[in-house]
Amino acid sequence: MPFRLLNVAGRAALRRGGVYWDLESVSGGRLPADPMSAIGRWRELAAVDLDSAAPEATVDEAIGAGRLGPPVPRPGKAFGIGLNYRDHAAESGMELPEVPVVFAKYPSCIAGPYDDVPLRGDAVDYEVELVVVIGDECKDLSEESAWGVVAGVTCGQDVSDRRLQFAAKPPQFGLAKSFDGYGPIGPVLVSVDGLADPDALALRCAINGEERQGSTTAELIRPVPELIAYLSRVTRLLPGDLIFTGTPSGVGSASKRYLKPGDVIESEIDGVGLMRNRCVDGA
Ligand code: ZN
Repeated sequence: MPFRLLNVAGRAALRRGGVYWDLESVSGGRLPADPMSAIGRWRELAAVDLDSAAPEATVDEAIGAGRLGPPVPRPGKAFGIGLNYRDHAAESGMELPEVPVVFAKYPSCIAGPYDDVPLRGDAVDYEVELVVVIGDECKDLSEESAWGVVAGVTCGQDVSDRRLQFAAKPPQFGLAKSFDGYGPIGPVLVSVDGLADPDALALRCAINGEERQGSTTAELIRPVPELIAYLSRVTRLLPGDLIFTGTPSGVGSASKRYLKPGDVIESEIDGVGLMRNRCVDGA
């Protein structure tokens, strides 16, 4: 049974239709309120019987959206993948890498799907991405078994300070993409069996209503199973680890249109939902 997991004011919740259910309440205390603990028990989330659940276990829908936090609030690791769409590599003037380009987004940059983005520079850029959420502890996986350890996917923004990123040689991706608030994710974690085709998810990004990025994860140079297998050969993957899988073309640096205070970033993946993040002056 597919599930949709959210973080409502710091508590794990499930959503079906337009209704939010508090996970601890709806499971009679069997499943945890902490979203990170809930991810580690993702197989049990699929079995929660919402059809016969007591209405007292619901969370007020009207206050839901404004109180949504990141579905994975404290990942142990957050990987980013660079240059993983051909059109984006071309617009960046970079050659296609022979192995996945991996960097770290430090976990403290993770933010909620409707949080403000506090801009700390004048060359800050947007990157809409599919974010994969690991559900099982695993090591040395094959590509064939990789989707099987995924708790679900969500939408993400890999907000990037281009000036800092390219201030040093070699470029310092990790620091430049880890300012506080530069990693909004959400609004919901969708289980893999809730997706029509997990290897072909349409994603797009609009700034102030103008679409800037639009593609599908079918265009990934290194698809999700290859990324998981590759990373798991190096480092043990743990429940709640995130993989930002790369961004398609249309980023602001290609047209020198960077984010400024007041801009609204809308990031969307079909079957997952829409994030809306307003840029504010974070100086
Ligand atoms: Zn990125």
